[in-house]
Amino acid sequence: MGVTVVGSVAFDALETPFGKRERILGGAATHFALGASFFTDVRVVGVVGDDFGADEFAVFQSRGINVDDVEQIAGESSFFWAGRYDHDMQVAQTIDTQLNVFADFDPVLSAEARGSSVTFLANIQPDLQRRVREQCSGAVVTGLDSMNYWIESARESLLQTIAGVDVVSLNDTEVRMLTGQPNLARAAREICALGPRVLVVKQGVYGACMFSESGFFFVPGYPLETVVDPTGAGDSFAGGFFGYLDCQLADGEAGDEVLRRAAVYGSVIASFAIEAFGSERLQSLTLPEIETRFGEFKQMTHFEAQPLLAPATER
Ligand code: AMP
Repeated sequence: MGVTVVGSVAFDALETPFGKRERILGGAATHFALGASFFTDVRVVGVVGDDFGADEFAVFQSRGINVDDVEQIAGESSFFWAGRYDHDMQVAQTIDTQLNVFADFDPVLSAEARGSSVTFLANIQPDLQRRVREQCSGAVVTGLDSMNYWIESARESLLQTIAGVDVVSLNDTEVRMLTGQPNLARAAREICALGPRVLVVKQGVYGACMFSESGFFFVPGYPLETVVDPTGAGDSFAGGFFGYLDCQLADGEAGDEVLRRAAVYGSVIASFAIEAFGSERLQSLTLPEIETRFGEFKQMTHFEAQPLLAPATER
């Protein structure tokens, strides 16, 4: 049991219509790990510089996240990303990316990381994702995320990597860009034909849809009145999704009902993540809050069927 996530652990500078932060804990693996930590054991594989201090490590430790596989390199700086969002908050504009220690990231996984039942390859270079995938002999479920940069610059490699995982998590623009197919259902069929069992298509404020062997499922975004910062929404969605999946694997293979609940937990976790800057909200989140919002999702999406045609006896 347990989830291993491989990806960026970073400092972010963020600016949204609701304020700014000059330098806070960020990174795709960070958002994912915090989201998944409510459901299962989580291990992060990443690299940081010596600017990453006790306060940052304490965030992981306070959620019981294992950071033994986060390498710290003396005399160097951590990955740094600066992003900005305008009023619609749908698309991040990258202002600055400083790879720093992340430029030479090519991890050799520990025995514990290789033995996790779920491996998530967060947004990193697709060749690197494949090298990590090849090391994960113990994984029952593998998943990946990517981004427009890799779709444009390393498409063939990304397609090859996608062929080797079970679950692909992308946003709708990335799915269309990757396949060149404007219709999402067709694009999903093309991606699943490469090998994955499941494609999760994140649609920002609108929620996410899931294409799998057993059909189609849609989960809305939670109708928040104030979205403070969408950074990490996609990664924390994946954290909730794969974390829940992992805690259910002990009971057997993840069937359709488990996948559906995983998508709802993904949307629940993402909805909390965007209530505050960076990972601030996930740091204070509690299980009862998660369960209450899960119940609200059930309420929001439930409806009673009522036939339009009256039974023959009443006609
Ligand atoms: P998301 O909003 O879910 O797409 O993820 C945001 C996180 O991804 C931020 O905390 C950044 O530190 C991290 N990030 C931004 N650009 C990159 C990149 N090129 N590679 C890896 N991680 C990145």
